[in-house]
Amino acid sequence: MPELPEVETVCRVLSKNIIGLTIKKVEIINKNLRYPLPSNIKKKIFQSNIKSIIRRGKYGLILLSNRNIIIFHLGMTGKFKINLRVFKKTKHDHLVLEFNNNLKLIYNDVRKFGYIKLAEKPFDIFNFKNLGYEPSIVINFRDILFAKIKRRKASIKDILLDQSFICGVGNIYASEILYKAKVSPFKKGIKFYKDEFTVLLKALQNIIEEAIKKGGSSIKDYASPQDDLGYFQTQFQVYDREGLPCYYCKSLITRVKQGGRSTFFCIKCQN
Ligand SMILES: [Zn+2]
Repeated sequence: MPELPEVETVCRVLSKNIIGLTIKKVEIINKNLRYPLPSNIKKKIFQSNIKSIIRRGKYGLILLSNRNIIIFHLGMTGKFKINLRVFKKTKHDHLVLEFNNNLKLIYNDVRKFGYIKLAEKPFDIFNFKNLGYEPSIVINFRDILFAKIKRRKASIKDILLDQSFICGVGNIYASEILYKAKVSPFKKGIKFYKDEFTVLLKALQNIIEEAIKKGGSSIKDYASPQDDLGYFQTQFQVYDREGLPCYYCKSLITRVKQGGRSTFFCIKCQN
């Protein structure tokens, strides 16, 4: 399931490949994604030029030369394929954009939890979807975030997953961040001291940045024609390591269900 680093990588690969190109054909194969494709999508994006691609949280935004913006969310299995040669449709291809240089961009999604929408400029990216601060800037907003967390009785794991607090942290990275910061996933927001919270924010920023770097280093593999923009699997420090020794203290990693989802942690290091 793509999390923020994967979406960032997809945006970078798309930027490398389609900025400056003009959409000369729009082919809808299946409009029924999580939400139906906008019925006017052909009219709105045809013959427009790709100006820029940015990410906010787990959303990608393709800014066009006209007033329109293509917004995509990859859901659980959404991915793009870039194809220069003769395009052969495969199962679960839903949308094909063809550009002036004959390159094709194909949206493929097995489970169809992803979606594509349109928006118009001017566009308020900061308040988009009520998303919180981006991981790359959380340290700058430490005092604001600390004031917020001191009012929260929820566990820090749940707070990290709250996209209106900090955006882009999913279930996997939440465990990784808490492990790196040596913070218990059950600790309540109101119980934090500022020093400990600062350590947590630094761990968060670091883990997401490292994951983006990993994605970035594999970017050339994705970008070759006919390759999928697949997802990389980072080596996790704690996630999915139940029963294996902790890298710091050799205690065995524990898994618990928290809010219906798995949390992996070290009882000794994160108490
Ligand atoms: Zn440990």
